[in-house]
Amino acid sequence: MRESNDSRPPVFVYRGRAIANYGFGNDHPFGPDRHDAFHSELAAAGVGAAVQYAEPRRASVDELALFHTPEYIDRVSQLSQEGRGFLDAGDTPAFPGVFDAASDVVGTTLAAVDAVMRGETRRAFVPIAGLHHAARANAAGFCVFNDCGVAAEYLRKQYGVERVAYVDIDAHHGDGMFYGFEDDPDLLFADIHEDGRFLYPGTGSADETGTGRARGTKLNIPMAPGAGDGDFRVAWERVADYIDKASPDFMIFQCGADSLAGDPLTHLEYSEEAHAAAAGTLCELADIHCEGRIVGTGGGGYDRRNLARAWTRVVQAFAARG
Ligand SMILES: [Zn+2]
Repeated sequence: MRESNDSRPPVFVYRGRAIANYGFGNDHPFGPDRHDAFHSELAAAGVGAAVQYAEPRRASVDELALFHTPEYIDRVSQLSQEGRGFLDAGDTPAFPGVFDAASDVVGTTLAAVDAVMRGETRRAFVPIAGLHHAARANAAGFCVFNDCGVAAEYLRKQYGVERVAYVDIDAHHGDGMFYGFEDDPDLLFADIHEDGRFLYPGTGSADETGTGRARGTKLNIPMAPGAGDGDFRVAWERVADYIDKASPDFMIFQCGADSLAGDPLTHLEYSEEAHAAAAGTLCELADIHCEGRIVGTGGGGYDRRNLARAWTRVVQAFAARG
């Protein structure tokens, strides 16, 4: 029997300086002001009792090591103490304390997973997270540790959840997730992104469907520069159909807002309606296949107004279906 509106658990939304501080300075596209831009918009939206705010937590080294190599974890720790240099070929600078800041992002996504798996809520959202470029053994594209990758491994180890769906509508291909699980048939991957011939990181062509036993468990949909809501809807039908057939046990949604028109780094032209519609569909599919369990992560988005609106619509869509 369907629960009444009043008995729906609130959506957990994570808020706090620990995750706000993951960033590369206020003048950087990935600046600490992104957190506050979102939370101001969400508060202004008047979500009331539909949202419960929750606190960040820090991931342990053992948790990081569920996805990342020990050598890479040690390297980040070392560069964090030195506070200079780059964690990759030149996109992701080390700053003093970057190790703790990146561990706070991972830990907060794990806190969201815990809240959902313990039945405290069915939907949770972490705005500063979804760091999908980080690979098992290196940083990339502003992403130091891959919270989504750690979360997928954590779900298996901590809760015995095998089939995790990762859905990504950030403008950039989620290469850290794709290659991190390329040969893993139980990580169900669907990613709509700007065609790699026009945008970083250059990967994610339609013929990349997984390797070995995992062949056919990954769906990459490249979009032409300038693609709008109509194009997104067509692509999204394929994602929804794929997820429905894959029947996952848990969903991780990376809803990067850099796919909205006006983003300074990309060339896609969706509106926040794309994010709202995707979040709504995923909740429907989560209700059918995995007891409603979904964690949303903010991902990219470098126009503050865009990210504030898109992520607020995601939280509202989560709340609307309880
Ligand atoms: Zn992005």
